[in-house]
Amino acid sequence: MDSIIKVEHLSKKFGDNEVLKDINYEIKQGQVVVIIGPSGSGKSTFLRCMNLLEVPTSGKISFEGTDITDPKNDIYKMREKMGMVFQNFNLFPNMSVIDNITLSPIKVKKEDKQAAQSYAKELLKTVGLPDKADSYPQSLSGGQQQRIAIARALAMRPDVMLFDEPTSALDPEMVGEVLAVMQRLAKEGMTMVIVTHEMGFAREVGDRIVFMDGGYIVEEGTPEEVFGNPKHNRTKDFLSKVL
Ligand code: ADP
Ligand code: MG
Repeated sequence: MDSIIKVEHLSKKFGDNEVLKDINYEIKQGQVVVIIGPSGSGKSTFLRCMNLLEVPTSGKISFEGTDITDPKNDIYKMREKMGMVFQNFNLFPNMSVIDNITLSPIKVKKEDKQAAQSYAKELLKTVGLPDKADSYPQSLSGGQQQRIAIARALAMRPDVMLFDEPTSALDPEMVGEVLAVMQRLAKEGMTMVIVTHEMGFAREVGDRIVFMDGGYIVEEGTPEEVFGNPKHNRTKDFLSKVL
């Protein structure tokens, strides 16, 4: 299997606080990797290092074989291939749904407006919101906004999708509709890295589970291995609190 993201000896410090410690990990084409762990363990920082939203203190991150930590390489160009979905949707409030979705394809990728709009409409069907093209974000529920945010990321035709707690800000009744869209993407073969506290989803949809604590990857494995037979006490302790 081809490696999409390869992380070698990654360390990240904020001042004197080392929040990622010698992280080594490889994400392969088509894999769904779910990162779990207690709050403050470094999950978001790890995810944000993958597309250089956080700049590593040391170590190397390769994306599709290119070292993105090498300043010679154009991170903006590579970031186009890495979709990101945040906890708080981050839609542009002053733009309609269709403009939110087509902005980057038109501005950044110089896509033809008609083509971008027609693909956006397809994506709106994919996320189950075919009639919301002309709506504004504030008129939508949190679950709908997050599905639009997913469509917006997909509009750039990324090779990998990064999700940082995409359902944590949602009312409980809206969590399922967002997870369903993510599950569908996974089934279609999208490579995904997902930070989440939704353990049922992690177990069902994840190919690999990564457990982080204190800036380390404590263990990783299949869902059966990590949930069914955790090796480390810290993993057992965490799972006993969340399951
Ligand atoms: P998680 O996502 O697992 O909750 P984070 O990656 O957000 O963990 O944070 C890991 C540690 O890094 C925490 O101690 C947090 O306070 C610290 N941290 C995260 N972002 C910053 C930042 N921009 N500046 C300083 N400290 C940060
Ligand atoms: Mg976080």
